[in-house]
Amino acid sequence: MEDTHCNNDYAPATRTVHGAALFEPHTGAVSTPIYQSSTFRHPGLYESTGFDYSRGVNPTRAELERTLAFLENGKYGLAFATGMGAISAVIKIFRPGDHLVVSEDLYGGTYRLFNEYYAHYGFSFSWVDTSDFAKTEAALRPETKALFIETPSNPMMKVTDIRRCGELIHKRGGLLIVDNTFLSPYFQNPLKMGADIVVHSGTKYLSGHNDTLSGFLVHSRPELDVPLRNIQKSEGASLAPFDAWLTLRGIKTLAVRMEKHEKNALKIAHWLREQPEVDRVFYPGFEDHPQYSLSRSQARGFGGMISFYLKDADLVPALLKNVSLILFAESLGGVESLITYPLVQTHEAIPEAMRLAAGVNDRLMRLSVGIEDPGDIIEDLRRAFHRCGHGTSKTEIRA
Ligand SMILES: *Cc1c(COP(=O)(O)O)cnc(C)c1O
Repeated sequence: MEDTHCNNDYAPATRTVHGAALFEPHTGAVSTPIYQSSTFRHPGLYESTGFDYSRGVNPTRAELERTLAFLENGKYGLAFATGMGAISAVIKIFRPGDHLVVSEDLYGGTYRLFNEYYAHYGFSFSWVDTSDFAKTEAALRPETKALFIETPSNPMMKVTDIRRCGELIHKRGGLLIVDNTFLSPYFQNPLKMGADIVVHSGTKYLSGHNDTLSGFLVHSRPELDVPLRNIQKSEGASLAPFDAWLTLRGIKTLAVRMEKHEKNALKIAHWLREQPEVDRVFYPGFEDHPQYSLSRSQARGFGGMISFYLKDADLVPALLKNVSLILFAESLGGVESLITYPLVQTHEAIPEAMRLAAGVNDRLMRLSVGIEDPGDIIEDLRRAFHRCGHGTSKTEIRA
């Protein structure tokens, strides 16, 4: 049969457009078909087409899994119903008694899953600022089996050194797991820098349109292939064919979207810094961001996520009420700009002391910059700030 594979040497933009396969081999379909079938006929007793039941393997999902592996420079990809489904699966390769060191400033749902569930099954976790190497090293114990990091972190945009973390944990035979959701494989490829497993919430930049949920694990370790496949098949959080297709379709425009998200974010981050209502802006693309040069050394871009402290927490309700183009909604990475209040949304599960230590206070806002015209996004924020500050009482705004 003809070789349908996309060439590994193509540039990232080309790789995202084409995915793992240039076309579907049976029909030549340019867009991968949606195999909306729960089960597959066997040709004979010991004969197989490679497909039997869609919880285990489905052709549309399999193409997406190959595509993720291709984009992350990994050998194996696994697709789950959500990002949390992927994270729940990866933790099951560990055993009770194992200890994991985890970035303290990360997606609140990951915190909840680890601390409110897995902590009760004999796992233990240390939450540290992994952008500080000395603290990360100090948190290791004899029973530490993995480092689980998010970089840039959510929501404080701290950057952790992937290469150094890899070396550190490998010396003890442990694994480095990196949640790469914020930059997507277009801007950052942790497996190339020593990570063992990459996690994605495909709900975000990969699918990119705020219209579906998905999650991924990508790795290159043959000894993890069977256990992880088994977990995926046994737990039943496998991604459905239609959602696999939506994610495949989203990935085709990942490169142009990421470029635009970043261009917009840089403009907006600089503008936000000048506003009297804003106290501090967190964006790794600022040259004075503490890990700016580290960012440049391990990623090809800074992404489209910005966090900022307002000067006054009293401005929060009015700002959220008065934005109109920017939607006040949880999630990120889609074409539409979204504003989030981590305190009550994404990071609500994190205990107050830990949340405050990580920097998530009542003045923190998170902006997922969309691909609209940046002037319109700025104008929306300008108007919202203006209405916050000019004599409109909070009760009027709430009314
Ligand atoms: C959203 C998110 C998750 C969870 O993914 P879901 O698809 O919502 O389950 C995990 N990590 C990060 C960084 C996220 O932003």
